[in-house]
Amino acid sequence: MDLPSHVLWTYALERVTAPNFVNSNLEFVLASLFFAALPDLLESTPFLIYLTLHRKKYNLKKLVSVYSFAIDINHNRQNEYDASFPWAAKISFYTHSFLLFILFALLLRSFSHWLSFSFLIGYGLHLFIDVFLHKDYFASKPLYPLSNFSIYGFITWYKTKNFSKYNYSLLFLTYLMLFWFR
Ligand SMILES: [Zn+2]
Repeated sequence: MDLPSHVLWTYALERVTAPNFVNSNLEFVLASLFFAALPDLLESTPFLIYLTLHRKKYNLKKLVSVYSFAIDINHNRQNEYDASFPWAAKISFYTHSFLLFILFALLLRSFSHWLSFSFLIGYGLHLFIDVFLHKDYFASKPLYPLSNFSIYGFITWYKTKNFSKYNYSLLFLTYLMLFWFR
């Protein structure tokens, strides 16, 4: 799922399941929404910086072309992505590993309980949703880097016709119900 959708669904779910808690714990909610975006931010930022620095080599004149090149090779030319930028392809498996997620949550717990809990919610929900929506090259590898064992989802969202249209319609309806018909 795209990054804004991860954030929007996380907030909607928090509002539906714990409205009072959400209203009185702004810091917790904001942190969890940041964590909901983090797996993909960590995945894409190094690749985008690398492409920007080497944009002459790949004939990418504008920053917009850097961005669309990154999206295109990541979604549509995964063999080439794996062969030409193996380090970038691997980052995704690290940031979407359940094993590393749990380890990091435990580490965070020794600093702050609430932050660790908000990490569990935001980051955890992102990884959980991704399991169902990737059945291609980016199928979830929950035990990475210890094992390449993969869980194949039902669909791959960016290869599913009209996925974003349905997704955003559903989000729109959900938010309408949350804020209009309270
Ligand atoms: Zn993701």
